[in-house]
Amino acid sequence: MSTASPDCSAFRSMHSAISVKNISKYYGALQALDDVSLTIEPGEFFGLLGPNGAGKTTLISILAGLVKADKGHAAILGSDVQSAFREARRMLGVVPQELVFDPFFTVRETLRFQSGYFGIRHNDAWIDEIMANLDLTSKADSNMRALSGGMKRRVLVAQALVHRPPVIILDEPTAGVDVELRQSLWQFISRLNQDGHTIVLTTHYLEEAEALCQRIAMLKQGKIVALDTTANLLTRYGSNKKDGDGKTDLEEVFVNIMSGDIR
Ligand code: ATP
Repeated sequence: MSTASPDCSAFRSMHSAISVKNISKYYGALQALDDVSLTIEPGEFFGLLGPNGAGKTTLISILAGLVKADKGHAAILGSDVQSAFREARRMLGVVPQELVFDPFFTVRETLRFQSGYFGIRHNDAWIDEIMANLDLTSKADSNMRALSGGMKRRVLVAQALVHRPPVIILDEPTAGVDVELRQSLWQFISRLNQDGHTIVLTTHYLEEAEALCQRIAMLKQGKIVALDTTANLLTRYGSNKKDGDGKTDLEEVFVNIMSGDIR
């Protein structure tokens, strides 16, 4: 499947896929993000990890233009998420955490509407291809309300891909889904990454992050407390516990980092 749009390679050497500079965000008195800066390069498979309430979804919402930062700047492939919202949004596919759908439409209609939202007509060949890759073809004419939770989550992923975005953010895409879907989802996402798409993943399944992400940022109370390659994090912050194969795992690294103020 040819999933990388021509834009993918055109922007590769010019801009970072995601650039976040000194972003802060308050909800009333609560500071959800505190001076967050990070850069993700095109083609990376990047993990954004942190406990509940660390600020991951807030950061993703800022990148998607759904929430406005109080301070700082963010850009997708060089387009500022505020001043060049349309360009930035077109470069980005977001798989949100919440399952929100119009229950009256079929899967195909839902994906057609999403295409229309990006001004794309006659997108059925691509919609068919995405559905085939996510095992949704047999549900194409089913109403959204008739789908199981796992199937709805597949539609969320499909929705994020209809406009062939070079940068894809997945906010806990495997929360509450069965092993089979998890595996097929990761196969598909890994293939998109191999085709040149930048992938950003948030998950509480740390073994998934360890297996998939080349680089990881860890957020705690709105601050980045670790940012490194997965391999370096495992070497630096793993302690004495050894798995059967002699390796420390990311879960232990996560606990070590979250329990102290190390960076
Ligand atoms: P989780 O892993 O549970 O999804 P998260 O890392 O995505 O958490 P956020 O959802 O970004 O965390 O929340 C960061 C903080 O901001 C939390 O304390 C949360 O309660 C608060 N928050 C998020 N959205 C709002 C909002 N719309 N109004 C007020 N507070 C909010």
